[in-house]
Amino acid sequence: MASNVVAHAGALIQQRVNGAAMQRGAAAAAAAAKSFQRCASASSSSSSAAAAAASSLPAEKVTEDESMHSLPRRLLMSTGPSNTHPRALAAMSTVQVGHMHEAFYPLLDDIKLRLQQVLHTSSPYTMAISGGGHSAMEAMVANMMEDGDKMVVCVNGIWGERIVEIGKRLGVEVLTARAPLGRSFSLDQIESVVSLHKPKALFMCHGESSTGVYQNLDGVKDVCAKHGALLMVDTVCTLGGVEFRPDESGVDVMYSGAQKCLSSVPGASPFFMSEKAMEALMSRKSLPRTYNYDLKELGNYWNWFGEGTRRYHHTPPIGSFYALREALDITVGEGMENVWERHREMTRMLWDGLDSLGLEPYVEREEDRLVTVNTIKIPEGIDWKRVCAHAMETRNLEIGGGLGPTVGKVWRIGIMGYNARPENVAMTLEAFKASLDAGRL
Ligand SMILES: *Cc1c(COP(=O)(O)O)cnc(C)c1O
Repeated sequence: MASNVVAHAGALIQQRVNGAAMQRGAAAAAAAAKSFQRCASASSSSSSAAAAAASSLPAEKVTEDESMHSLPRRLLMSTGPSNTHPRALAAMSTVQVGHMHEAFYPLLDDIKLRLQQVLHTSSPYTMAISGGGHSAMEAMVANMMEDGDKMVVCVNGIWGERIVEIGKRLGVEVLTARAPLGRSFSLDQIESVVSLHKPKALFMCHGESSTGVYQNLDGVKDVCAKHGALLMVDTVCTLGGVEFRPDESGVDVMYSGAQKCLSSVPGASPFFMSEKAMEALMSRKSLPRTYNYDLKELGNYWNWFGEGTRRYHHTPPIGSFYALREALDITVGEGMENVWERHREMTRMLWDGLDSLGLEPYVEREEDRLVTVNTIKIPEGIDWKRVCAHAMETRNLEIGGGLGPTVGKVWRIGIMGYNARPENVAMTLEAFKASLDAGRL
């Protein structure tokens, strides 16, 4: 451990040095891209072949105004993506190396180590799945379940529903437990459904972002241990915002996302497995119904098994990995306790302000309310869409509407990572105040 700390500190220093270079690199890259755009449009008017090619494109696509440099700067206070931390964004434009180059491997090791630190886990099985949260969802189900295996899915919003859908498509026998929207599951309910079905795995969503519900995991591990079930958890909108300790909570598989509380870019999703989950994976009788996300193959590439040689499986999103490494480093550097406390504090500030505007939480019980995704009841006589549009048009500020079953019922405000700062919360409250007036019917 001591040598890890030293290595970690060394890497930090190295990064600070690289960081400065990255900032310069990013500025240079942006300038170069801009001048390339200019050249491209100039030459297309001088050569008739190029002009013909250009004329077959939608006209607005070739003008500089429509280039990515004119994308609006927005404050993304919905539920993700949240604004990317500038250090994570800059890390992406450092330099390209090959994913099978020796020089790249320490970066993979770094992601593993930092994820272990974020998760307070001693499990060596951490990695980033290539792709967004949904890729990690499919990776989990396809690798942990075989045809006809029983999986109990706790459904109290869209994410449980999607795991049900993924399970069915993969030939899993899916059983559901349901809680009313806006409510979490009680331990009694979990005990009764697990003891009834004795599934191979139980799925729970730590933070249901469609409804803003937090799921307490206390005691669930004992239920799972008693009935021999693996515990699989979604932490896409909670990791890096809400306390989560898989070893203590007895979680066997966890997937998360990069673009929510970790303030990285989408495309590389944190993934974790316990020793018990690994044993289940190794004792499968059939091959997983996914090639792209075959965890034995990915585990080799991430050097989970100490095999020495890493085999080419697929080309991962190298840039997203740079950003994720940086984002994890920032999170660990702040200290996990501090990170969680900052999120709690900003959420208190948000609700103090919403309360004074006369707005109410959608989630009835305080203990069920998620810190990172706040669902706000839409009052009578207010056009919710107009409120969102007004905030966007006048302030470039994103207020989220509902998702799935909560569309038209709530607004959703994310308190996530880099965005979870007093000035952003103040700006959001100010936008709400002005936009509520604009949205009055
Ligand atoms: C956002 C989210 C996902 C899906 O993540 P994508 O990166 O959009 O695929 C899954 N689960 C929860 C709880 C989420 O909030």
